[in-house]
Amino acid sequence: MEFKKPLILDIKGNSLDDGPGIRTVIFFKGCPLSCVWCHNPECKGTGYELAWDRKECIGCNSCINVCEPAALARDNPDFVDRHKCTLCFKCVDVCPANAMTEVGRDMEIEEVIEIIRKDIPFFVTSGGGVTLSGGEPTLFMRFTADLLKKLKLLNIQTLIETCGQFDCAAFFELMYPYLDFIYYDIKLIDSEEHRKYCRVSNERILDNFRELCRASQRKGGVEILPRIALIPGITDRRHNLEAAASFLKENKIKKVALLQYNPLWVEKSKKLGIHSSYTEDAKMATWMPLSHLKECLAIFQDFEVVGSRY
Ligand code: SF4
Ligand code: SF4
Repeated sequence: MEFKKPLILDIKGNSLDDGPGIRTVIFFKGCPLSCVWCHNPECKGTGYELAWDRKECIGCNSCINVCEPAALARDNPDFVDRHKCTLCFKCVDVCPANAMTEVGRDMEIEEVIEIIRKDIPFFVTSGGGVTLSGGEPTLFMRFTADLLKKLKLLNIQTLIETCGQFDCAAFFELMYPYLDFIYYDIKLIDSEEHRKYCRVSNERILDNFRELCRASQRKGGVEILPRIALIPGITDRRHNLEAAASFLKENKIKKVALLQYNPLWVEKSKKLGIHSSYTEDAKMATWMPLSHLKECLAIFQDFEVVGSRY
């Protein structure tokens, strides 16, 4: 399903983690997957959301006083009753501590370009550019294609970070001609495990990856970098990493980026009132040790795929 216009979560400059050089990253709201460990849970849904940050809240109760449907209550451990909240955002307007925030912004392409334009000198000096991220930018192919075309007219290097769940023919027609890099997330090779942890099966994702690999190996093809987020007890298990390494080798891919697990998503989920057994799971609460990352990298070396820390 394609959505016509995205909400933008954020536009962040000075990123050194989302491609070559210094980059400006545009985060789109909405994703066709629903991974239990999603690192940007505020990007899962396509619509507006309300976030409450208990650490910032000073307990002034201004929000409670303006909330007409009485969705806010001190005796609710989440503070916000999401069944009652109508997303009017009056609480955001009166909050003096920035503890209540509206998540999502409706922006025109020209507004996005104006923000990016001021970062062009950094792109030029560092070999950087713009990264489309999320969420999933391909959910909004016509919007992102128009945005990419405009970036190319400004001679800006472009990169997409994608989960791979998209209509491949439309991607080749609309977006591919305006991309310089594709960072492609692979999670679980077993389809049933993928369905269990990411809500959808992975056939289309793996098929699209094969297509993009073939295209990248042709003259003028767009460089593709597979990435695997190492999630404790889920994607980092040996059988999954061996299957992933074998899959990459079959597709003549020689490089992979492994993303060392961090637990920052747990707090972000709680701000949005998202609770699951995974947000409470003790092994999800700590940073992944470097020694485990090295073990995971070694698995790929056995398949002659060079892994790098990301
Ligand atoms: S967004 Fe509106 S309805 Fe929701 S909690 Fe805030 S004031 Fe209440
Ligand atoms: S208005 Fe802001 S600071 Fe005051 S109680 Fe509500 S969330 Fe907390």
